Amino acid sequence: MLRYLVLALALTPLPSAAVTRDLQAYGAPIRSAPADPAIAQALRQISPERIRHTIETLVSFRTRNTLSSMDRDLPKGQGINAAADWIESQLQRYAADCHGCLEVERDTFTESPQNRMPRPTTITNIYAVLRGSDPAQAKRVYLVTGHYDSRATDVLDSRADSPGANDDASGVAVSLECARVLSSLKPAATIVFAAVAGEEQGLNGSRHLAKLAKDMGWQVEAALDNDIVGGNTTPGDRWQDKSAVRVFSESIPVAATAEQARQIVSLGYESDSSSRELAREVAFIGRSYGTITPVLEFRRDRFLRGGDHESFNEQGFAGIRFIEWREDYNHQHQTPRVENGVQYGDLLQFVDFQYVAHVAALNAATLATLAYAPPAPTNVRILTKALDNNSTLQWQGSGTGSQYEVLWRELGAAQWQRSVEVAQESVTVPISKDNVIFGVRSVDARGHRSPAVVPLPER
Ligand SMILES: [Zn+2]
Repeated sequence: MLRYLVLALALTPLPSAAVTRDLQAYGAPIRSAPADPAIAQALRQISPERIRHTIETLVSFRTRNTLSSMDRDLPKGQGINAAADWIESQLQRYAADCHGCLEVERDTFTESPQNRMPRPTTITNIYAVLRGSDPAQAKRVYLVTGHYDSRATDVLDSRADSPGANDDASGVAVSLECARVLSSLKPAATIVFAAVAGEEQGLNGSRHLAKLAKDMGWQVEAALDNDIVGGNTTPGDRWQDKSAVRVFSESIPVAATAEQARQIVSLGYESDSSSRELAREVAFIGRSYGTITPVLEFRRDRFLRGGDHESFNEQGFAGIRFIEWREDYNHQHQTPRVENGVQYGDLLQFVDFQYVAHVAALNAATLATLAYAPPAPTNVRILTKALDNNSTLQWQGSGTGSQYEVLWRELGAAQWQRSVEVAQESVTVPISKDNVIFGVRSVDARGHRSPAVVPLPER
């Protein structure tokens, strides 16, 4: 008899897998926000023709090797100083077109000799500031950057042809085009459009700019680094994907203290750095405007490679890198030449200006949306005093009259899955905190959202 009972239990079929779990029963699936008509209008101004002009002009300086700033015998119109002058003049033109809405800055400094820099070298960063229209919000900064320096096979060769059409005239073109089309807007927070140098020597320009931002008290909430966004087109390459752009973001912040890193691991927040929440927001915003698809790469940068976003990460800022789907290594960091019938060199002919324009639109939509959005909630906590299958979250708002959205995703999920809208600064949801990651973001009446902030435990 006993034996029969055990068998019967063992043979009971599993409950249907279609049962709805608590975390799926509550709230609603994440839907994209409606596009803001003013932002959509600005995006329509993005011009592949203007982008082509920018990249062509940058290539025309023959070399933009950072070390060429010290070469006094270069023909007029060649070398990185000529490129800096031209970028500055473009930003000045956009500033004049919007009656001085952009403040254009040229920041020149000298680096001492170091690896990849045999002698003291002047480096120039150029940036334009679209100051936030709300003085209380203007310290929040959303920044886009590309590096205008270039290199040949030998990074120390300041004389060899170094067209750098894709790496990284394309990224500079994104930054300049964002400045041109967004200067018609008046968001509450500040947007900075930058072109930096020294990237190929060792991220010198971006390191200087990120430190300057820190020293000036800028609250940089997003640094969008565009580096190699030309959509390289090699005849015969079947695997380039012109509908996608990769977005790299760091896991545990490089700026985290040992104690913060321990807490991140203990809470399972390895995929919730501010950079990663920013990357998720890029994907969310992109859907509202039907832009190119950002593929979220949960890694600081490509394997053993780096870029200017890391300089911002080192200062504790959220920073991510945009880069084409598939790179062609014959077309970067190579002196132009033909060898065994193979064309080497980062040449204009391999850049797809339409692709760069699509990447610019994703950047511009992100910058504008975040600069219009209310500040993210602060002091976000999850109460852990009682052992409970409900979860109670509390936070502080910005006092701008915004509402909030509490988001969650299963621990194995990459993107936010469901959300509930909340008018107050706390909520209790019937979902166990052990099975999901929660985030809270601010939402204004027009649907602009801040990046999400994950809660810290409060006993
Ligand atoms: Zn680069």
